[in-house]
Amino acid sequence: TDKPIKQPFDTSIINMDKEYDFLFKYLLIGDSGVGKSSLLLRFADDVFSDTYISTIGVDFKIRTVDVDNKVVRLQVWDTAGQDRFKSITASFYRGAHGIMLVYDVTDMSFQHVETWIKEVDRYGSCDHNMILVGNKSDLSGKRVVTYEKGKEFAEKLGISFMETSAKSSTNVETLFMTMAAEIKSTIAEDKL
Ligand code: GDP
Ligand code: MG
Repeated sequence: TDKPIKQPFDTSIINMDKEYDFLFKYLLIGDSGVGKSSLLLRFADDVFSDTYISTIGVDFKIRTVDVDNKVVRLQVWDTAGQDRFKSITASFYRGAHGIMLVYDVTDMSFQHVETWIKEVDRYGSCDHNMILVGNKSDLSGKRVVTYEKGKEFAEKLGISFMETSAKSSTNVETLFMTMAAEIKSTIAEDKL
């Protein structure tokens, strides 16, 4: 199931055969090195590696979860930030139900959040959910972006905010499940 399929999303949320009730597609974006692949590995396989996880273009992992007694399959797409993959990534924005915009609380990646937002505005569909994620919260001694600063910025953008640590497993489950709850709450009543 972890084999990458290099094709754009379709936008269907509802499954016709009964393997699961809903399919939610997430997209992880943000600067290189902020921990996107680590968050995905922690969530999907519950592991962490101290070495950089090389991501080529786009790749996904799947985990099936329970949301309000519905079986929800989460298909989480991981991207590499390099420019040469921009054109691949663009098509993935369109089909994403949930976008996780990740920065690293210990470096300058926070300053690039606005650039990433512009990317999403340019390529994304208008009805996606977005969460701003400050990762590496375990590195308290190296922190340069406060919780308040992240939270304030997310509020300005009108999106949710969370700090996580893929290393210590803090808030990772909560992050993916909060996104699922937010997406589910947007599905029209008659489809539930
Ligand atoms: P990506 O380029 O955004 O996919 O980043 P990676 O997931 O490859 O992580 C980049 C580096 O940051 C790796 O050395 C990871 O081990 C490290 N890293 C990722 N998440 C965390 C975290 O929550 N805490 C700490 N201390 N290191 C992390
Ligand atoms: Mg990566």
